[in-house]
Amino acid sequence: MVPFLDLKAQYRVIADEIRQAVDRVLESGRFTLGPEVEAFEQEFAAYCGTKHAVGVNSGTSALHLALLAAGVAPGHEVITVPMTFVATVAAIGYAGAIPVFVDVDPQFYTMDPEKIESAITERTKAIVPVHLYGQPAEMDRIIEIAAKHKIAVIEDAAQAHGAEYRGKRVGALGELGAFSFYPGKNLGAYGEGGMVVTNDDKHARTVRMLRDWGTETKYYHELKGFNYRMDAIQGAILRVKLRHLEDWIRSRRILAVRYEERLAATSLVLPAAMPDARHVYHLYAVRSHHRESLQTALAENNIYTGLHYPVPVHLQKAWSELPYKKGDFPVSERIANEEISLPMFPEMSQEQLEDVCDALCVWASGEE
Ligand SMILES: *Cc1c(COP(=O)(O)O)cnc(C)c1O
Repeated sequence: MVPFLDLKAQYRVIADEIRQAVDRVLESGRFTLGPEVEAFEQEFAAYCGTKHAVGVNSGTSALHLALLAAGVAPGHEVITVPMTFVATVAAIGYAGAIPVFVDVDPQFYTMDPEKIESAITERTKAIVPVHLYGQPAEMDRIIEIAAKHKIAVIEDAAQAHGAEYRGKRVGALGELGAFSFYPGKNLGAYGEGGMVVTNDDKHARTVRMLRDWGTETKYYHELKGFNYRMDAIQGAILRVKLRHLEDWIRSRRILAVRYEERLAATSLVLPAAMPDARHVYHLYAVRSHHRESLQTALAENNIYTGLHYPVPVHLQKAWSELPYKKGDFPVSERIANEEISLPMFPEMSQEQLEDVCDALCVWASGEE
């Protein structure tokens, strides 16, 4: 049996450290924000190479507050991609702005910089590239275009903790960056969590206020804020897990190298790694014209896979109010139809990986 990911296997390795951290919080009597969250913020900012990090209660909240800090308001447009998890687009909606889609690059699956300029209008306030599957978007080009038009770049780094682009960590590239600590992410809480990172003092202060009812001093509300505070228990757990993150990324990258060796000769389209970047393989996303048959064949061998994502956001029922139709973003639609995510988690053994590849090669030989 090879699960798609195995959070219990990871817990077994770090259980003692986690229990100590949780106990410390329980004994402290401080359950939301507080010293554990502050310490995690400092450690995560140092990890990303940013001046500030502000802990919140989810990746979606992080995106929402990053957009508000950048000045996104009702009537504005925000450019993003339809090939993402729906939260990217939902957060733009929460800020009262209109999501405007541009297609992704056919090789890297991240925002195609060539498509951006024709989507910019006088209402465009921000661009939100998504570091999909753990690979940074082409940030130099995106930032260059944004600077020319004086619009903010907010990174959706929910899938890409520790990914690097030209020597810099994601989150530190744009004006603000948003991370998720949903349990299945590369750095996952034991519950929900998120983080906004930025080098801008003013943005950091705004996000800090907005996550806690718009206050700096209790009961004095300067802004219309939210209850988006990070739990102290999650902060303490994430501090423990952050210390393991580089090891876990190393494991994922070793697994990716072995997948590539074993699968290069099959008909599958394997992930393309961008030059001068560090892909952190949140997902090992391959493409096949026959993914249903592949998914079934693997499941018959007790090997579990995922689809990320079967419907691009412009074709989701919830977003049918947007002026898009089938065929508008052919690259995103092709990925939605062909992508399948193979098992990928740091504790995955060499044996498990070989089992996946064996089953895949048997299936592939039957396909020919
Ligand atoms: C997970 C995810 C989010 C949302 O994060 P939550 O913590 O689940 O709110 C946003 N964007 C992308 C690309 C994601 O994968």
